[in-house]
This record gives sequence, structure tokens and C-alpha cells, in this order.
Amino acid sequence: LLQLRGLNKHFGGLHVTNQVNLSFETGEIHCLIGPNGAGKSTLFRLILGEYAPGSGEIFFAGENITALKSFARIARGLSVKFQVPGVFKGLSVRQNLEIALQRTRHGAELDQEIDRLLAFLGLEAEQKQTAGNLSHGQKQWLEIGMATSLKPRMLLLDEPTAGMSPEETFQTGEMVKRLNAGGMTVLAIEHDMAFVRQVAQRVTVLHLGQVFAQGSIDDIVADERVAAIYLGQAHHH
Ligand code: ATP
Ligand code: MG
Repeated sequence: LLQLRGLNKHFGGLHVTNQVNLSFETGEIHCLIGPNGAGKSTLFRLILGEYAPGSGEIFFAGENITALKSFARIARGLSVKFQVPGVFKGLSVRQNLEIALQRTRHGAELDQEIDRLLAFLGLEAEQKQTAGNLSHGQKQWLEIGMATSLKPRMLLLDEPTAGMSPEETFQTGEMVKRLNAGGMTVLAIEHDMAFVRQVAQRVTVLHLGQVFAQGSIDDIVADERVAAIYLGQAHHH
């Protein structure tokens, strides 16, 4: 469904994405892991078109989208939940979902779709609550709801479980699996290996801007080369 061919991105002298070739299949849940600063979030911004690559090409559903603007990529079925929270803190949960949907749904259909999303996210009881007052996990769920509201073909999640309790992390994994069962292809950047094990069919390890390893979660955790790149890496946010 999504193919990255020879993607390079520099920030000054820093080679953040180094000749990345990756292919994501329709229907899969794929996790992207790697130490802090590996270039994972940068890859998402390249895929969505927020950054232009120095060289390389991006294909989505067979079409070369490298030169397309973000909105055109979203129109074709790509959606991203970024690492930095983007909910409107002063608005209610319901209003946030309304903003995500109001350009494509109207009237009774809009209300119905919001109700469906609230039920899916488990946020029915919180719908009138100000988004800024939600728990950290609930805010992340609201963001997932906003990112999936247009029913994208492919959903990219940048650390969807950051700051969540193990129970919330598990619930997020179940949410992702339900989206996938509904036909959505998912690519998630994750640090939580329990989550990766719960959802991922394939895992890619990014290190220093390069594809370092790829395989099942069992392959990856058994790979001593992968373990070595995490040694001495204090995880921080
Ligand atoms: P983390 O796990 O901490 O989120 P990451 O793998 O998502 O890390 P990126 O955010 O993609 O890493 O950053 C990769 C490198 O590129 C880092 O060294 C970062 O400082 C640098 N970088 C990212 N964005 C920019 C930018 N806009 N300008 C300059 N340098 C940047
Ligand atoms: Mg990141």
C-alpha cells in the first residue's frame, strides 16, 4: 500500500533519513521501533508531506505522491496522529470530534458519526468534558479518534501509548486491532514492546536514519544486534 524508495532527508549536516526503502502491505499492522533520534517521527512527516525529502520517492496505492501536498495525501487516505498532542484543550471531547468531521458530515449524520466514535473510544461519559481535563490516556484516545474519523486507508500513529498505564496501553492495542479488523492498515511508532507484541505482524527497526532490521517481534527481540543499539540509550521524552 505504501512504499518508500531511497528516502533521504538532511537537517543541515545531520543525515536523519538515510536511503530508506520500506514497503507496507495492505491490511497489516506494522510497528516502527528504534532509539531516540533514530528518525522515526521525521519519516512520518516525510510520508505525510510536511517535509520534502532531499531525494527518493513515496508511492501510495501505486501512485507517486512525492510531490503532493499534505491535504492531497490525506484526501487519498493517509492519516497521522503525531507525537505532539493536538487536541483543542478548551473545547469538549464532542466538539473536538465535530471539528475533525464537520467538513465531510453534516446534520444528523454528523451526530451519528460522533456517537459512533465516542463509543469506539470509550469516551461517551466524557463527551461534554473539556478535553484539557481528560486523563493523558483519554487525550491520546481522542487523538486517535480524530485521526481515524475520516476512515483512512492507512493510519500512522506516533507513540500512541506514550505516558499510558499498562492497562491503557493494552486497551489502545485492542483499539488498533479493531481498526485493523475494519480494514485499516496501521503503522505505529512504539517504544512499548508489550504493545508491539500485542499488535504487530511485522516490525521494522530504524537506527541512525537507516533500516537496521525487519521481522516478527520474536525475530527482533532475539536479535543481539538490535539489543546492542539500545544499550546506553537512556530513554527520554
Ligand atoms: P524519538 O524516539 O525521540 O521520538 P525519533 O526517532 O522520532 O526520536 P526524530 O524526531 O525523527 O527522531 O529526529 C531524528 C533526528 O533529527 C534528531 O537528531 C532530531 O534532533 C533531528 N531533527 C528532527 N526534526 C528536526 C528539525 N525540524 N530540524 C533539525 N533537526 C531535526
Ligand atoms: Mg519521535
